[in-house]
Amino acid sequence: MINEARQVWEQMLPMLETELSILSYDVWIKSIEPLDIRDGKLVLMAASEWGKNTVNTRYLPLIKAAMNRANSLLTDVEVISKDEKDEFNEQAETFQIKEEPISIAPEPMSISLKYNFENFVVGKSNQLAVAAARAVAEEPGLRYNPLFIYGGAGLGKTHLMHAIGNSLRDSHPRLKVLLVSSEKFVNELVKFIGFKGNGSSFRDKYRSVDVLMVDDIQFISGKMATTEEIFHTFNELYNANKQLVFTSDRPPKEIADIDDRLRSRFEWGFTADIQPPDLETRIAILRKKAQIQKYNISMEVLSYMAECISSNVREMEGLLNKVILLSQLNEAQPSIELVREAIKDYSQKDEGEITADDIIDATCKCFNVKREDLLGKRKTRDIVEPRQICIYVMTEVLDLPLATIGNIFGGRDHTTIMYARDKVAQSMSQQKTAYDVNNVKNMVYKK
Ligand code: ADP
Ligand code: MG
Repeated sequence: MINEARQVWEQMLPMLETELSILSYDVWIKSIEPLDIRDGKLVLMAASEWGKNTVNTRYLPLIKAAMNRANSLLTDVEVISKDEKDEFNEQAETFQIKEEPISIAPEPMSISLKYNFENFVVGKSNQLAVAAARAVAEEPGLRYNPLFIYGGAGLGKTHLMHAIGNSLRDSHPRLKVLLVSSEKFVNELVKFIGFKGNGSSFRDKYRSVDVLMVDDIQFISGKMATTEEIFHTFNELYNANKQLVFTSDRPPKEIADIDDRLRSRFEWGFTADIQPPDLETRIAILRKKAQIQKYNISMEVLSYMAECISSNVREMEGLLNKVILLSQLNEAQPSIELVREAIKDYSQKDEGEITADDIIDATCKCFNVKREDLLGKRKTRDIVEPRQICIYVMTEVLDLPLATIGNIFGGRDHTTIMYARDKVAQSMSQQKTAYDVNNVKNMVYKK
């Protein structure tokens, strides 16, 4: 059973890693040692009493959820400290251990446990989208099909999609639910088309699901060759009363270069947008996020933070985490001063004052590349990556038409700029890209 414990734990680790901040994962989770499985209970050992208490108060529900996914036959989890190990081993001798084989069948990690309806704050800006998402989770395939949710970056589209998935797992556990990024979806499709019909796995996989959710569907724009197959896949699912859910950063009519039939298919069911949250909702979101981390922050400080960042919940969360970290480092309660300290990096320069040159300079410095290379034609990887990041930051920070950005980059076409922007946006979930983008931005705002 000791080996089984290790096997289960190893499957749980990547799930926990995606759910937790790097800091929490490194400090609290990586140091845990799986000890044994006893009577269906997974026993874990934390390095210290402090570790045991922290894991028990903060991470137990997440650990349990990951364990249920890794092996649904396990019923409970117990965390002990290193000091309790001897006592635990002695007990083992008096135990009757049932050596039931436990089948280990990992489920693909498509739905994040972190995002559910309970921890999604509802306000005027998103209530329609939430109501539709809940209805879909209750009665998939019946109403609102397809459900199309759109809105700006960091406003909770992906969160809602995972919430639908989690809720479905509880209320309709037998349904086959698949959540994919549009990038993955298109990649698999392209591979399938490459097989010229010999490999039917794409069709089998996608057409056998009960609920298909595709995140950031706007990225299929411009991939005309594949939109026909996509259209047929969605159509078949729809006709079989299977539920479809899409998210996008823009409404269907603004997704360029897709099959018109596909566009009208998106518009067929129910389209809901999410707007930036008002102040009250922003405060409620910050409060919830602080609660989740078991942090008590005064109303005054929460309101101040909510005033500082208005249009992107992800950035607001970033600020909150920074404030929490600073307060831990300084062993002080979160205060307005700490918030000021935390936003110093990006508040020294107002967005309005930033120019394309500032962003180019910052990119050159961060990546140590020459300006003429960045703006020129060279296509080696060490130049292309910084160039794409630079373009992405420009589209985020500056209010410039894509064609103008194209001119800055040596007369490139606006579609090239769009491609670069979307490519980076698509990989923002990867740590390296997010890090590079933030690095450039920090440098820009610091100047
Ligand atoms: P999008 O997919 O729209 O870019 P996400 O769903 O990734 O945005 O949300 C970004 C972050 O903001 C996530 O951590 C999410 O939990 C949080 N968030 C956004 N809106 C809300 C909300 N109304 N309540 C709670 N958290 C939210
Ligand atoms: Mg998203």
